[in-house]
Amino acid sequence: MHLLPAPRPFMTKHLLLSAAAVALLSLTARADAPSGVDISAIDKSAKPGDDFYLYANGSWMKRTEIPADQARWGGFNILNLEAQTRTRNLIEDQVKASAPGSEARKVADYYASFMDQPGIEAKGAAPLKADLDAVAAISDKKSLARVLGESLRADVDPLNNTNFQTENLFGLWVAPGFSDSDHYTPYLLQGGLGIPSRDYYLGTSDKMKTVQAAYKSYVAAALKQAGIADADKKAASIFDLETKIAKAQESIVDSQDVVKANNVWARIDFTKKAPGLDWDQFFQGARLSQVNSFIVWQPSAFAGLSKLVASEPLDVWKTWLAFHRINYSAPVLPKVFVDARFEFYGKALSGTPKQQDRWKRAVNLTNDALGDAVGKLYAAKYFPPEAKAKAQTMVKNITAAWAKRIDALTWMTPATKAKAKEKLLALYVGIGYPEVWRDYSSFQVVKGDAFGNLARADQFEYRRNVDRIGKTVERREWSMTPQTVNAVNLPLQIGLNFPAAILDRPFFDAKAYDAFNYGAIGAVIGHEISHTFDDQGAAFDVKGRLHNWWTKEDFAHFQQSGQKLVAQYNAYKPFPDVAVNGQQTLGENIADNAGLASAYDAWHASLGGKPAPSDRGLSGEQQFFLAYAQSWQAKTREAAARQRLLTDVHAPDHYRGLEVRNLDGWYQAFDVKPGQTLYLAPGDRVHVW
Ligand SMILES: [Zn+2]
Repeated sequence: MHLLPAPRPFMTKHLLLSAAAVALLSLTARADAPSGVDISAIDKSAKPGDDFYLYANGSWMKRTEIPADQARWGGFNILNLEAQTRTRNLIEDQVKASAPGSEARKVADYYASFMDQPGIEAKGAAPLKADLDAVAAISDKKSLARVLGESLRADVDPLNNTNFQTENLFGLWVAPGFSDSDHYTPYLLQGGLGIPSRDYYLGTSDKMKTVQAAYKSYVAAALKQAGIADADKKAASIFDLETKIAKAQESIVDSQDVVKANNVWARIDFTKKAPGLDWDQFFQGARLSQVNSFIVWQPSAFAGLSKLVASEPLDVWKTWLAFHRINYSAPVLPKVFVDARFEFYGKALSGTPKQQDRWKRAVNLTNDALGDAVGKLYAAKYFPPEAKAKAQTMVKNITAAWAKRIDALTWMTPATKAKAKEKLLALYVGIGYPEVWRDYSSFQVVKGDAFGNLARADQFEYRRNVDRIGKTVERREWSMTPQTVNAVNLPLQIGLNFPAAILDRPFFDAKAYDAFNYGAIGAVIGHEISHTFDDQGAAFDVKGRLHNWWTKEDFAHFQQSGQKLVAQYNAYKPFPDVAVNGQQTLGENIADNAGLASAYDAWHASLGGKPAPSDRGLSGEQQFFLAYAQSWQAKTREAAARQRLLTDVHAPDHYRGLEVRNLDGWYQAFDVKPGQTLYLAPGDRVHVW
């Protein structure tokens, strides 16, 4: 479970702030704000007790426009832009410095091949030909099954990065096993949709119909550009097929339930349990014929999708495959493909007017393909030892605060408490960068072949995953790169990763007062620790096995507190016609709730009985809560916000910032009184932990 949704494909252009301006911005903020809180963001016309998020961020929101190439803009994005800019400079340095054949050279060549737009234009759609020919050669359902297997990729991750979406029919995730966490085990997940949620296909509102129409236009445009005849008719048939796939899929709420996901299927049983697809051919195509058993995440979807392979016409499946080959490769094809794709994923789905500059897309793609190779360079240059030391101290203090909170719980039985503390001690916490790096020696990068490089990168990643099925788990492996602005809890590895790139303002500043650091990154650290014990964490024992270690009574109490939080978030309405889904976002809301509370305790403990320094009229308490609400400072375009409400397991930023209302300390810090919008009577404040 991570902190923010995975970046969507907002590919793009033009930037409101130049990299230099951004660097300057953070430097001035540093010099002017010893406490770390951005005073200029505060809107004094908003009352903290009515809307604390607006109070903390209102002036910033009034003066800030979302850059044309972004769907969301805020601290995360500004930091991300800084990380992108640094990464670009690092990569460009490699071009001059690195030896041919070295890992750094692969990074440089991968990047340069994508940046060579004239070279990409000159080839036109030709690089697609081999893929489209392979689809055209499918002559029956047997060869269809084989090609569906060949297209399987390791592109989903339901637990660490909570990515449930693949446009291939299925997705593979190789991770520690639910019942044997010492060995890598293959998990299979549902897929098959071009729009990243089944709700878009099943929805009947005008908004949904607009997205559906835009998708059909895009599919037709992509087919036409690839020289495929009858594009409009074929686009309609693809949409109809995907609507059937959407109906057969399981919802995101069901998909988050790990107990429902624990379905061990022997390879030879797929034909019986999910008849329709020629599974022998599929597994041969996927190079999985030697693997004897799998965990099937959404069994009813596997039955449903397999049945569709049998019932729907071969030609429709072939067109569907052809489109997804084009869609997948579009970023490395000529501009007409890139622009058509952006029209849908950027504009229609996220409301973003402009594409990101090519260099930013190049940085993102290079990070996807060679993330650890880039990260090694990044961490060496941009993660000073003093930042690591300070972050380690905070983790130690927040972990200690958790231990105390567990001891102090009145409702939890001693048996469950002991197990919780055992798990807390077992946590592997990675800070900044991994101790073990990925080996790219067998990954071939060909300069001047952006198309082939992308395909080889995904095949390399797929092979790397398939090859380790059955092998011993490396618990110190990371699931995020050092240059990622995010943080993650790895429930099967009992591990946390805090990448170097998030250990920076507005989350962290080694020079700022502790009130700021605990309110911002401290709450993030507490958030990730909380996932070790939340509704999903409760499902994994000290070894990372799927085994609920809570007593029945304790778990019932925990779920009851959770339901209070569900109701609190269900009441938030970002738009008149849609509310936050309190159940879909529950795990993350518990993590915010407990993360903030544990950071607050740890900060108090760190003061050692001394008063916190005040700063520019703000008490320590006020700095703490403002730092928290400002860490969620962001503006999001409406289309993107609506998309996140459907697809994201996190609540919108605004409501994450309001989590403060469940903490007693916030009421005193801002003199919040009954009758104010956010006021909760002491008994109504949710304290899950
Ligand atoms: Zn989380």
